[in-house]
Amino acid sequence: MSSPKRIGSIIVVTGPSGVGKNTVVEQVLDNVDGIAHSISITTRDKRPGEQEGKDYFFRTRAEFEKLIAQNEFLEWAEFAGCLYGTPKAWVKEQIENGLDVILEIEVQGAMQIAKQCPESVLVFLSPPSFDALKERLNGRATETPEKIAVRLEKAKNELTQRHLFNFEIINDNLEVAVSNLIHIIHAERCRILKAQ
Ligand code: ADP
Ligand code: 5GP
Repeated sequence: MSSPKRIGSIIVVTGPSGVGKNTVVEQVLDNVDGIAHSISITTRDKRPGEQEGKDYFFRTRAEFEKLIAQNEFLEWAEFAGCLYGTPKAWVKEQIENGLDVILEIEVQGAMQIAKQCPESVLVFLSPPSFDALKERLNGRATETPEKIAVRLEKAKNELTQRHLFNFEIINDNLEVAVSNLIHIIHAERCRILKAQ
């Protein structure tokens, strides 16, 4: 009995800035084979230590807008004054090669993926409390206090959107959160595929 060729899944990890999306995703990538991490394009300034093509592809607003006009994004959104988007052709190529692809994106972009790719796996990462989120953003210290305040204000609304997604993982104990995401990915791989 032959099974249809497996197309990879799009796994969206969303949630407020500072909740730990990057931390959780990096650990999942270290522990699961057959999975690729989509590198987004952004107009945000590079943080110390960030690398072109590893953390993001850093572009000017004019360059980003040209990519929008050329329909190069699977989704894109404006977040805290900067643009962020997922390169469509790269993601499509990976999933057609049978790899799962993780998108680590903010909530408006995740909602676009939910509409356009309803078969994707949508995971919302929640903080154990609002105070914990505040502490994490302050502790990461990659933004000025003013910019942190903007992200926290945004988070209040984002947290009300979690019911729009398939799974919620509370990122309290990091090891547990990572293990939960790994289990979700493995469960998705066990799904019975419908013949085309
Ligand atoms: P995001 O990608 O969602 O913006 P990060 O992965 O950059 O968030 O995490 C924000 C900060 O919170 C980092 O300093 C990270 O080390 C810390 N962090 C992540 N997960 C946890 C956790 N479970 N407990 C405590 N701190 C955490
Ligand atoms: P940061 O500036 O902290 O790197 O990212 C700000 C927010 O944008 C984070 O929540 C991050 O996950 C999200 N983000 C990163 N890349 C993308 C993307 O391609 N699309 C969308 N919609 N959000 C993204």
